[in-house]
Amino acid sequence: MSATNHLISRLQAASLGRKTDVFATLPYGRKVSFGELFDGAAKAAGALISLGLAPGDRVAVQVEKTIEAIQLYLGTVMAGGVFLPLNTAYTVSELEYFLGDATPSVVVCDLSKLESISEISGTAKVLTLDADGLGSLTDLVRSSDPIEPIARSADDLAAILYTSGTTGRSKGAMLSHNNLSSNSEMLRDYWQFTSEDVLIHALPIFHTHGLFVATNVALLAGSSVVFLPKFDADAILEAMPKATALMGVPTFYTRLLDDPRLTKERAKNMRLFISGSAPLLVDTHEKWLGRTGHRILERYGMTETNMSTSNPYDGERRAGTVGFPLPGVETKVMLDGQELPEGETGVLWVRGANVFQGYWQMPEKTAEELMEDGWFITGDLARIDQDGYVTIVGREKDLVITGGFNVYPKEVESLIDDLNGILESAVIGVPHRDFGEAVVAVVVATRDGTTIDAISGALETKLAKFKRPKQIIFVDALPRNTMGKVQKKALRETYAGLFA
Ligand code: AMP
Repeated sequence: MSATNHLISRLQAASLGRKTDVFATLPYGRKVSFGELFDGAAKAAGALISLGLAPGDRVAVQVEKTIEAIQLYLGTVMAGGVFLPLNTAYTVSELEYFLGDATPSVVVCDLSKLESISEISGTAKVLTLDADGLGSLTDLVRSSDPIEPIARSADDLAAILYTSGTTGRSKGAMLSHNNLSSNSEMLRDYWQFTSEDVLIHALPIFHTHGLFVATNVALLAGSSVVFLPKFDADAILEAMPKATALMGVPTFYTRLLDDPRLTKERAKNMRLFISGSAPLLVDTHEKWLGRTGHRILERYGMTETNMSTSNPYDGERRAGTVGFPLPGVETKVMLDGQELPEGETGVLWVRGANVFQGYWQMPEKTAEELMEDGWFITGDLARIDQDGYVTIVGREKDLVITGGFNVYPKEVESLIDDLNGILESAVIGVPHRDFGEAVVAVVVATRDGTTIDAISGALETKLAKFKRPKQIIFVDALPRNTMGKVQKKALRETYAGLFA
């Protein structure tokens, strides 16, 4: 085993000789240098070890987005621990499952949850870290001695991230040092990030997108970041003239498009807009191009696989697709154990150094989804066209089976979204006494509006009868989670009784 810490040695390499250069600019102008970032992380590692953290122990963290939280992530990995970030939206009763399952030895939370978390955290030490970067953790870090990173090899675990668990129980995806470093190094090169870049970092850091794609890529490239606690259109637009890149979920882009201050002039210094975590509408891609002169680069990934595909940096960024398999990543489309030819829709399988180590304490689930030869069954429906571009058609579990026929929601949604007067739509299957499931379209209209008759009339000539919605429902907004994903499960629950 090498004597280095696999991930930390890589994350530190780009900034070793640039300790005083700025890594992060925080709201109100505070600047954090690379030296300060890593010195704080080394002290956080010292603090964790003083609490009794041993290599492989989990550090569960439910905190707001601060630089101290990033230092806690780096410090955990430096100390040989396994970082376990938790969505800030989780309630105490949800946390009870995660803490019971992961049995962390340290838990860090907001002061407001200290009491209730202390009751459910077993033998773990519980510390606090608040939105202003203060708390009992910060106090301990200040008085702790920095440590040299503990040696960890490529295959050791660096993080466990729980999947959002839209069906059944949330599963803890185990990610090794090499899963994280290899994927982020490849993305840095593929997207051409360098020390000249200034990345607008407005994503949450409890998710793979903000923590591993944004933070790790910036560190590996030695780029600096405009570090925003959350999405804030004003702050992003203010930062844009001096920034070079933005990573966002599709809702970032639709919200920014609503702001008249988004212009070509404002985006002049930017070289790259990246979108992922949920499908980007073709309409958003085109409107963004018109307004800023930039084609958004859409990529696809998931907690278990890090990033798997991306539209090219140089070359055609094809709207509505997620581009090509990334270097070192293999993909195939499967149905009933057979690989499908190009153009046909099936379940996407992924293999490569990006693919996780399995689900924490769930050997059976792992065996169902992660094959012995390294292929992972993503559960996403996809097709690959003759040029090699991958299109994600939706989740397999969102497939609607009506009267024995398969309906891919994306096909219906795309047609509806293209109609005048439509902002967006979500197509779901709800129980139906005759058909098993019925297709239902939940639709958000634009200000100009449209009617149910106009939508169903337009679909009549475009879709086979069994694919057409049996009911169209107007809503003001679609339910989304913090990563911008439409919550189809919630919609299915809301409309479960329609045809009962
Ligand atoms: P998560 O594990 O929370 O990152 O969610 C991963 C899931 O998000 C994937 O399995 C896809 O269903 C979806 N997803 C991520 N990126 C995209 C994209 N660019 N287009 C469509 N779906 C996406």
